[in-house]
Amino acid sequence: MKVVMCASEVVPFAKTGGLADVAGALPLALEKEGQEVIIIMPCYKMIRNGKFDLKKVKEDVSSASIGKNIKVYFIENDAYFGRDFLYGDKTGDYKDNLERFSYFSKKALDLLKEINFKPDIIHVHDWQASLIPVYLKTLYKDDVFYKSIRTILTIHNIGYQGLFAKEEFPKLGLDWSLFTMEGLEFYDKINLLKGGMEFSDLINTVSPTYSKEIQTKEFGFGLDGVLAKRSNALFGILNGLDYDIWNPETDKFIAKNFSVDSAEGKTKDKEDLQKLCGLPLKKDVPLFGIVSRLAEQKGFDILAEAIEKICKSDLQLVILGTGDLKYHILLEGMVKKYPRVISLNLKFDDALAHKIYAGSDIFLMPSKYEPCGLGQLISLRYGTIPLVFKTGGLADTVNEKNGFVFSKYSKAELLKAINRSLKAFSVNKTWKALVERAMQDDFSWGESAREYIKLYAKAKAA
Ligand code: ADP
Repeated sequence: MKVVMCASEVVPFAKTGGLADVAGALPLALEKEGQEVIIIMPCYKMIRNGKFDLKKVKEDVSSASIGKNIKVYFIENDAYFGRDFLYGDKTGDYKDNLERFSYFSKKALDLLKEINFKPDIIHVHDWQASLIPVYLKTLYKDDVFYKSIRTILTIHNIGYQGLFAKEEFPKLGLDWSLFTMEGLEFYDKINLLKGGMEFSDLINTVSPTYSKEIQTKEFGFGLDGVLAKRSNALFGILNGLDYDIWNPETDKFIAKNFSVDSAEGKTKDKEDLQKLCGLPLKKDVPLFGIVSRLAEQKGFDILAEAIEKICKSDLQLVILGTGDLKYHILLEGMVKKYPRVISLNLKFDDALAHKIYAGSDIFLMPSKYEPCGLGQLISLRYGTIPLVFKTGGLADTVNEKNGFVFSKYSKAELLKAINRSLKAFSVNKTWKALVERAMQDDFSWGESAREYIKLYAKAKAA
């Protein structure tokens, strides 16, 4: 099968979240399963100025390689992509995001013809690439080159839809007849993700539970009706984790490598993390880690309510992340009050993330909703026990055998789960067994990649 992966962020080139992990790792796993894959993404400033070995393909396209033989094509346009961030800066989203990603989508389709790569499947991710299926079935529909191509849209988070004012519609180059309820219109706005959902041949999300949840009012963010209409074309495939990048045995960022058979290294990593974060070097106090966007979705509303109680418990907490200003301020206040308990790192820092996954005892991830979640998968791999709310991908991957789960979303239930984890931590033998079980779980990409191949076959036959 010939597959094109189109995404706005791809590891190792550019990343703001889990989408990049998936868009980077799935192609590698597909290649291992014998599929022919290429990737297309925008050429951001950090890619052009980065350490990558870029080759010019044509005036406005360059390329690099990953895996054995996967070409990654970068669509260049300095005015659109030569910026410090991917989607916006601290003042908010870039004002021309509609134009930027419309440009990317058209250029991606044009490129296929220019390099004469006729895929079976174009696999697009999230709102940023959602115009590709729309254009394929409208502007490109009469071109024989594109006739047999099928599309799959993966929704990584239905809370982010790419909403724009109606007045911008002409910039898309589409006929106004597409600005309807069956097209891109959504409460009198343009909704790019909805366009992708209406026009792609199949849709999937990143866990089975989330694929069911988003068909309900509570989790659908207004698009539950559209999904219900397409429920026969909607699937859920759990994300895998790139076990080469996230491997405690070989991880270059951590103080000491370790494995399930020789977990003593983890003690060193805990000490290293405590030192780095200026926390007291205490072996017997459980160290909680958080690596996350600081957003309500990630559970920060109930965390904020519970934080004072948490800080008064016999534990330590390292937080890495950026996000809503109100949480920055609240947490900064907590650090002032409890400097020996909490370490706050308001930044995006891959190296520190690795150290937290390795050095913590418990990974806090009480997301209100979670399409799949990678943090809990990474922490399991590093023997760091996840504590989660039972939702989406967290419900599909964490249970009482490998973690701590609470199933009513409230501050009180969160605190109860934390107390359960503190109790478990205090019994050495129980804890050791739990860590071993967690590390033995397998969430590598192989199985998920095979599921995707089945989905591609389904789309091809559609
Ligand atoms: P999201 O909803 O943000 O995509 P996921 O759990 O699916 O959440 O993936 C988040 C990914 O981004 C994980 O690989 C996590 O380790 C990483 N990450 C999140 N915040 C930071 C940060 N501040 N620094 C480094 N890595 C981060």
